[in-house]
Amino acid sequence: MQKPDIRNCTDEEMKQFLISINEKPFRAKQIHEWLWKKNVHSFEEMINIPKLLTEQLNAHFTFHTSIIDQEASSEDGTIKFIFRLFDQQLIEGVLIPSGKRVTACISSQVGCPLKCDFCATGTMGFTRNLHFWEIMDQFSLMNQRSIESFGNHITNFVFMGMGEPLLNYDQVTKAINILTSPQGNGISPSRITLSTVGLVKGIRKLADEQFKANLAISIHVANDQKRNQLIPTNLSNPLAELQAALKYYVDKTDQRITIEYVLIDHVNDSLEDAENLCRFCKSFPVKINLIQYNATDSKYRKSSIENTKAFIQHLESRNLIVNLRQSRGQDIAAACGQLVKNSKKR
Ligand code: SF4
Repeated sequence: MQKPDIRNCTDEEMKQFLISINEKPFRAKQIHEWLWKKNVHSFEEMINIPKLLTEQLNAHFTFHTSIIDQEASSEDGTIKFIFRLFDQQLIEGVLIPSGKRVTACISSQVGCPLKCDFCATGTMGFTRNLHFWEIMDQFSLMNQRSIESFGNHITNFVFMGMGEPLLNYDQVTKAINILTSPQGNGISPSRITLSTVGLVKGIRKLADEQFKANLAISIHVANDQKRNQLIPTNLSNPLAELQAALKYYVDKTDQRITIEYVLIDHVNDSLEDAENLCRFCKSFPVKINLIQYNATDSKYRKSSIENTKAFIQHLESRNLIVNLRQSRGQDIAAACGQLVKNSKKR
């Protein structure tokens, strides 16, 4: 029989296991620290655990550890990783340095079922959700590489890699709880951003659970007809319902929403599109990140400089806070799903 991954054990289950083998239950706290504060991937690294107990742990449990399968470095410092999971599935992660800040872009699913028309991951189909400990493996592997390459730990996290985080709600929020817990990595929730294409049910659930990290909505176009084409899940999560859910979220959490908007040439970059976005944002506080489209081998192209400028001017004339984000890692196919897709082609 296959041994279970020890990281699936709750603290209570670990205590019960220790009692069942005549060990002291306080060892559960030590094991927890090794797993979630020090992020070890073997029992041998737990140096304050007696040898006999290490043998027992080895006999009953395993680590389904992920490894770095490939990595590619961009001229701008961005490093993209392909991780190979224990069942040979591939996912992506990206490290993006910027001054003293190092942002890790993290995946939540193998592939994605939502099939957004502009996204390389969307063309790959969906294989499975990630376990929370596979999300944590992305953190620990990239954190190590961040220290080696940039002399600094990861400072910020965005759930903006492969997959829709709210379709893997429990595992994603569990990973965020470990990252932010004082018994885990103790990272401030303000340094973590969950990015969704706007699943209404999940947003309301986050609101009800008083989600502490940042919430970003990949809106990309604020007209239902166009959005149905670009993001098919808009058919069941139309803009009016999404807008109401975001208002509910802001009322419950008192947090500002980040709006992500990828500018695509002649698709969503007209002044009418800008005005639609203003209307969508009118009932809650927002910060808008405009992102230049990182062209995959899809039919879409990035917006022209003129259209981008006019779009920004229109939003600013309505007193909206706008940042234009440069697309990073273009020379290494750093947009979501591109590297795994290229790797599979090869
Ligand atoms: S943009 Fe996000 S939600 Fe849409 S297909 Fe890509 S990974 Fe999935």
